Amino acid sequence: MVDILTREQRSKLMARIRGKDTKPELTVRKLAHGLGYRFRLHRRTLPGCPDIVFPRLRKAVQVHGCFWHRHDCGLACIPKSRVEFWKQKFVDNVRRDRANLRALRKAGWDLLVVWECETEAPQKLVSRLNRFLSKPSR
Ligand SMILES: [Zn+2]
Repeated sequence: MVDILTREQRSKLMARIRGKDTKPELTVRKLAHGLGYRFRLHRRTLPGCPDIVFPRLRKAVQVHGCFWHRHDCGLACIPKSRVEFWKQKFVDNVRRDRANLRALRKAGWDLLVVWECETEAPQKLVSRLNRFLSKPSR
């Protein structure tokens, strides 16, 4: 199979597949830290293994790559080859996201989804993060 991506695109994509310690995630961590919150990372015991977890608050933040999780922002293009494969994969991803969100809520957790593209505007994001973390838990 011919690789249609440049080396840089490929390595970005692989980072997203691994899905950990990606640049958007690091941005969100930095912002939460700057707000004075302490958190843990990738709690496997919680549905969906949220990226950033605030145990005492029973809140978690999930950072979603726009491509993988189908954000309606223009970054979620469909690759030109193996279209059916990708479509199915995306459907599965979105379905899994929804199921995880439901399971988390049922367990009494609040989840904030942060999209990759939102991390490009940290000032806006930090106030959103602040609002989410400071509002009383359910
Ligand atoms: Zn997006």
